[in-house]
Amino acid sequence: MTTPGTCRPGCTWAELLQGYKPVLFPLPPSVPPMTEAAARQALLRFVASRCCYGSRAAGQLAIQCLRPLGMYRYRLETFSESRLSEWVFEPFTSKADGPSGDTPLDPWDVEVGTPPLFQGQTRRCRVPRSALVRDCHRCRGHGRSKCGVCHGAGRTRCVTCKGSRRRLKQQKRCQLCSGTGRKRCNTCSGRGSKTCVTCQGEKKLQHFKQLVITWKNNVFEFVSEQHLNFPGELLSKVSGANVFKDENVVVYPIINFPDPEISLASQRAIAEHSAALATSSRILRQVRGEPKAEPPLHPAGS
Ligand SMILES: [Zn+2]
Ligand SMILES: [Zn+2]
Ligand SMILES: [Zn+2]
Repeated sequence: MTTPGTCRPGCTWAELLQGYKPVLFPLPPSVPPMTEAAARQALLRFVASRCCYGSRAAGQLAIQCLRPLGMYRYRLETFSESRLSEWVFEPFTSKADGPSGDTPLDPWDVEVGTPPLFQGQTRRCRVPRSALVRDCHRCRGHGRSKCGVCHGAGRTRCVTCKGSRRRLKQQKRCQLCSGTGRKRCNTCSGRGSKTCVTCQGEKKLQHFKQLVITWKNNVFEFVSEQHLNFPGELLSKVSGANVFKDENVVVYPIINFPDPEISLASQRAIAEHSAALATSSRILRQVRGEPKAEPPLHPAGS
């Protein structure tokens, strides 16, 4: 059996599922009987949740017939991992790794540890042996770049006389620029250049592959008996018993479940998740379950 996390995208089932058997359902799972007392309790709980409802009628109501309505919910959770690598760079300092001269590791060969199962998260790390050191492309390896304010001149036009060298009206020499019409550039302190922001003055950049690992829990849910005239969003909140739960690297579709809709939904769910995830991700773990949910019973009584 393959241990989780050792396959790459595109693994076939045969590689993952040696010795794993599909589950057959020879008998319909039993539906626990609903008693009159439990039905009355449910009704009284509902009445108590409404501030203006009185409980007397519900307490004395004669229940003539209980019509149980059962339904199944199928849920497939597929925990997947995808990996993307992108080139990034940082200023190269003597403390940095430096180039190794070896071939960089394949993104899928980088050890990143096992994340908590079925919890989405993103992690970034460096691909070992992927570092390259190059002259900074912004300053061409000088460590300084031309000042954008004075365009390298170190001086800018005097703001007081606007370069005319004289004070307006008075026609006297501008004192701020001593009649030159230009002033020392404040941005670069007159040097005409500044420390390069890209390499932070280090002149060289270290480029390396950064691995972005995304773990995601993909959920498929299907509820049978949609004709129940019951709001779908409430169905997911009702309690029920868990008929079946299975967890593996990848799970089989359900075969011959008493409710054929569930078997079909199971096949569709597994096919959908496989198609969506197989090419770009690897599936680390799947869990499927068919909780039998019980919507509130409708007592038919007087
Ligand atoms: Zn400047
Ligand atoms: Zn001036
Ligand atoms: Zn630079």
